[in-house]
Amino acid sequence: MPETIKEKNISRASLKLEKQHPWHSLESAEALDLLQVSPDEGLSDAEVEQRREQFGRNVMTPKKQQSALVRFLLQFHQPLIYILLAATVVTILLHEYVDAMVIFAVVLVNAIIGYIQETKALEAIDALAKSMTARAQVIRNGKKQQIDAQELVPGDIVLVQSGDKFPADVRLVRARDLKVDESALTGESVAVEKRDTPVAADDVLGDRIGMGFSSTVVTYGQGTGVVTATGDKTEVGKIQESIASAQDLETPLTRKIKEFSNLLLWVILGLSAAVFAVEYFRGAPLGDTFMVAVALAVGAIPEGLPVAVTIMLALGVSKMAKRRAIIRKLVAVETLGSTNVICSDKTGTLTENQMTVQQIVAGGKKYEVTGLGYRPEGEVREDEKPADLSGNKALAQCLRAGMLCNDSSLKEKEGNWTIEGDPTEGSLLVAARKAGLELATLEKEAPRKDTIPFESEYQYMATLHHGERPVLYLKGSLEAVLDRCENVLLPNGELAELDREEINGQVEQMASEGLRVLAFAMTEAAEGLNDITHDTTSSGLTFLGVQGMIDPPRKEAVEAVKLCQRAGIEVKMITGDHAVTAAAIASQIGLRGREENGKLAAITGKELQQIEDRELETVAEEVAVFARVAPDQKLRLVKALQARDHIVAMTGDGVNDGPALKQANIGIAMGITGTDVAKDASDMVLTDDNFSSIEEAVEEGRSVFDNLTKFIVWTLPTNLGEGLVILTAVILGSQLPLPPVHLLWINMTTSVLLGLTLAFEPKEPGIMNRPPRPADEPILTFDLIMRTLLVGVLLLIAAYGLYLYEVDQGATSSEAQTVATTVFVVLESFYLLNCRSLVRPMSQIGFFRNMWVYYGIGTMFFFQALFIYTPFMNMLFGSSPLDAGQVLRIFGAGVVLLVIISIEKYIRYAYAKRKAGSPESEG
Ligand code: ADP
Ligand code: MG
Repeated sequence: MPETIKEKNISRASLKLEKQHPWHSLESAEALDLLQVSPDEGLSDAEVEQRREQFGRNVMTPKKQQSALVRFLLQFHQPLIYILLAATVVTILLHEYVDAMVIFAVVLVNAIIGYIQETKALEAIDALAKSMTARAQVIRNGKKQQIDAQELVPGDIVLVQSGDKFPADVRLVRARDLKVDESALTGESVAVEKRDTPVAADDVLGDRIGMGFSSTVVTYGQGTGVVTATGDKTEVGKIQESIASAQDLETPLTRKIKEFSNLLLWVILGLSAAVFAVEYFRGAPLGDTFMVAVALAVGAIPEGLPVAVTIMLALGVSKMAKRRAIIRKLVAVETLGSTNVICSDKTGTLTENQMTVQQIVAGGKKYEVTGLGYRPEGEVREDEKPADLSGNKALAQCLRAGMLCNDSSLKEKEGNWTIEGDPTEGSLLVAARKAGLELATLEKEAPRKDTIPFESEYQYMATLHHGERPVLYLKGSLEAVLDRCENVLLPNGELAELDREEINGQVEQMASEGLRVLAFAMTEAAEGLNDITHDTTSSGLTFLGVQGMIDPPRKEAVEAVKLCQRAGIEVKMITGDHAVTAAAIASQIGLRGREENGKLAAITGKELQQIEDRELETVAEEVAVFARVAPDQKLRLVKALQARDHIVAMTGDGVNDGPALKQANIGIAMGITGTDVAKDASDMVLTDDNFSSIEEAVEEGRSVFDNLTKFIVWTLPTNLGEGLVILTAVILGSQLPLPPVHLLWINMTTSVLLGLTLAFEPKEPGIMNRPPRPADEPILTFDLIMRTLLVGVLLLIAAYGLYLYEVDQGATSSEAQTVATTVFVVLESFYLLNCRSLVRPMSQIGFFRNMWVYYGIGTMFFFQALFIYTPFMNMLFGSSPLDAGQVLRIFGAGVVLLVIISIEKYIRYAYAKRKAGSPESEG
């Protein structure tokens, strides 16, 4: 086509599309015409370019969920802030303008910090959601290709199959058994059957069977459509509802912590009110009394705790992303630490998914295939000699079936051979080429007319070819193929009776070596048959033979499985593959479980069906290998394990894995091979489909939980100590060693500068040598509660003691208060060093493994020096400069605290070590 005409066509297309067509009521041919595209050719790159300019990218403008202003204002919506705002008003009434200013400034700074932290947490999660862009199968320039769904333009020819989401609105031009779940759009959860036929112009969305709408999910079959609308122009774009709503930052843990702080809040408010009453009746001035009550509330309520925990979980999300695990739900970070069973796919997750055909059995003869990988160099050999295809028709047809009943393609780039598509299929192309077959020739001889694509549920794929005579090829699992065959092809081309026993025996032999076995069959089809269904292929086929391929275990997976087992996590294999193959690979990988005759036992999906729920619990716990498992059996397995209180992580990739992924405590979808449906249902997506990434995520999860506990153990004594100081002052009827503004200063600065640095504490060595944390175990164990009490009391003694000492020495009350405040800051800094590990003595932590702690302490001391020595701060906070003696005494107290806690820890550590024989086994 001359360039000018082509351009004219394009501009005509752009004109026509400016008005909205009722695509659903047009014949598909009309739609194609209007969109100026042929369904076989698709658009050319130039047309795509031009249309992108006209229509933009296929993205929906996200609706602002909550404006920044609203989110900022919500920071003030906290009980403590109300108290502080009230305090501001009261101080103004008392003409204490500086205090009022300071308190209000603290409220502001607090809101800003809260806002920034929350934004960071949201961003971390949003970025990850975005990094998982949807892909779309299109036909462009006459070729099938995978593109980023955002690159779609109107007129693109899109292919979908079960498990996919429609990437844009399309007018269907071909639909085969197509069923679509449109609940995202219409709320109707029963799948709708789609056809390529038009409907009346005024039919509602749910009745427009000729259309596929963006974001709806194909649950069955396949379809081809032409894109009619992209981005905001799509039906979902118009209602904007399917756009993921703001990520939920709440998890069971943060909820528990929030409940805990709320409880404390009311207890302390009650206490404050009581203190207020007591002081008032004692005859203290109203203003002072109020300030004491405020001080108690400010000091003792751990307001920042829930936010800090959320932040630490969000930091965990970023850490896991670096290790190829994308967290879709924040809760996964905390659940990962308690996971004690991982149910994993075999192919591609525990194994390399690098298939090579090594053995073929056809026409009663056995062949070896040489060569490794996808490079088509090697031979199909019989008794050390290249096989003669003409001497064995069954072998010839078996290889032919492998090549024709195949959707993958072999690519060479700079001497590197790779495959596009399913590796299982790729290996069949390679095997056929090694025997001298050429794909191009075969396709010319027998062009494909129709396809039933592979689906795990049916375990086979079939293709119909129209050559000289129409033939149907079918390949799949041995069971699926044998079920459909009635005879077998002999080397001389004659048909004979099928000996199922013998074939089963041969396959079992191959499977016991860990080979993945595919069986092949064919039949002559009736003249004029144009499409095939599961019925067409249900019986009467001729068995051709089998090909066995190796798929070596991933080395990292072997290591990761070992680590998991040491960490008290059982690994189970759940696969669609043959039981014997699965068991052989499982033992190569080192799975542990019930054995039979000295070999790992494998239970098949069929056997599972016979087992009652009760008994299944035992089976699920004891057996490590589940083979030929259909997706609904996965759901049963998860439930059975959960019934025994296991925290289950389960992988999945198929359309029907959704329910199991949702049911699992951690649903893990495969990033590469996974369907959109599986990803949507998951809590976590593996970008590399690799089992070892699950293990690493568990490790991170444990580490995040450790650090979170460290933070809590570090932060609570401060509140306790502050509360105790105020209460003691009330009981003694003395002046407050810590006035409210000082408390605000301590709480504001230390939690960010000191506490959050614990988030960067590296993993404890031996983190995978201890059992998983029981999910219902409280965060603070008895030991940790005792430590919290101890440190709280030590803070009280040090701060009150030095305060009284200074007063006794004739210091001004401002100086004495500054001393008490500085005691808190310094002691918390020292205690932070202790908190870097919950159990291990400091000498074993590795002093410089988390420099953030020291930067944090350095910055904290710098700010504290400003607080003590600059006139400005003295004016704001009523603090006073301290002399060297005073500072030395404070640091002395810090060292004493460090030593006492070190001794306490050491005693517990040594005791635990004696008891368990290994220090790390103590959580
Ligand atoms: P898994 O991924 O756990 O090995 P699948 O559900 O993918 O299990 O496959 C189950 C069985 O279906 C395989 O053992 C094989 O016999 C058969 N199979 C796998 N892939 C294909 C395919 N592309 N075409 C035909 N049959 C296949
Ligand atoms: Mg598979």
